[in-house]
Amino acid sequence: MSSRRHSIAVIAGDGIGQEVVPAALQTLRLVAERHDFALDEREYDWGSDHYRAHGRMMPVDGIEQLARHDAIFFGAVGAPDIPDVETLWGLLIPMRREFDQYINLRPVRTLPGIPARVVGGDDIDLVIVRENVEGEYSSVGGRLYPGTPYAAAVQEAFFSHRGVTRAAEYAATLAESRRRRVTSATKSNGIIHTMPFWDEVVAEVMQRHPDVTLEKVLIDALAAKLVLAPASFDVIVASNLFGDILSDLAGALAGSIGVAPSANLNPERRHPSMFEPVHGSAPDIAGQGLADPIGQLWAGAMMLEHLGEQAAADEVVAAFEGCLRDGIATPDIGGRPPRRSSRTRWRRGSGSWA
Ligand code: ATP
Ligand code: MG
Repeated sequence: MSSRRHSIAVIAGDGIGQEVVPAALQTLRLVAERHDFALDEREYDWGSDHYRAHGRMMPVDGIEQLARHDAIFFGAVGAPDIPDVETLWGLLIPMRREFDQYINLRPVRTLPGIPARVVGGDDIDLVIVRENVEGEYSSVGGRLYPGTPYAAAVQEAFFSHRGVTRAAEYAATLAESRRRRVTSATKSNGIIHTMPFWDEVVAEVMQRHPDVTLEKVLIDALAAKLVLAPASFDVIVASNLFGDILSDLAGALAGSIGVAPSANLNPERRHPSMFEPVHGSAPDIAGQGLADPIGQLWAGAMMLEHLGEQAAADEVVAAFEGCLRDGIATPDIGGRPPRRSSRTRWRRGSGSWA
């Protein structure tokens, strides 16, 4: 009998989410068994099909259902016939806000066997800490005088002292366990109210972390530096929008979007945190057995770490790194596609090959 149990909500979602989630879960279950804990999984068939049937991505009480779990293991949602804004505001943003998942964590590392697209060829090992619930992605604003020559749109950004403090605290504490460098993304020369405030609060927090070096860099210069010298970064802390852009950029540098994980964290564990790959539902390759499962699996390792299962998490990372070293690879990272004749497909919801 397992001594420790973790209750996991599983939302595989759409497209390749239906392939990579069952694949990752197989590995996580094996590792759980080896480390003597149990994952109590419960599947939720939310996403685009649910939207087509009910006009919503999840049921009205979806958040309440998820709140009962220790963590959410999420694949991807989205389909070509459904507007992106529905998937984002119908599922992802409600989870982030209701569960106060105020940190979006995205590690970016050079992996064995995956050629990084990097100048100089040095290994990348950085983490982006993105503020995940406020900033530029506010719902404050609206349209003015639509259909007239005065038509205009207003969108307010919102930064609270508490919000910036906790993001910066998280980044500083993380840096203390790494190479003790934090780079803060700013734009205080152009955005003259919120960004100087961001800078002030970040600097205030860093005073409590004297061994951590803080560098603040304008977002445009930071993007360029990420391309030219990605190996020079340790922890990057950024607002919601800047963090979103930088993480896709950094992920692309490290190789394939298919290997990149992300965690939406409520670090205090008062609410469930959510773990997902960076990639989306990839309708272009869905159902063909081509999807790279590493992003999903690495997200699973982050989930285990968050649940206190560090040894198991390390084993998952070592396992996929070992596969990569052995040359086992999906087409996105240079492997060969499976033989057409085999016609393997994931059976939706069944977690098995058909
Ligand atoms: P969404 O709107 O859900 O984000 P998208 O098509 O805009 O979907 P992704 O799903 O991330 O964005 O796909 C971007 C590209 O990366 C596609 O060409 C896709 O095939 C590829 N891709 C994404 N994830 C993987 C993966 N796990 N393995 C291989 N290729 C992937
Ligand atoms: Mg997309």
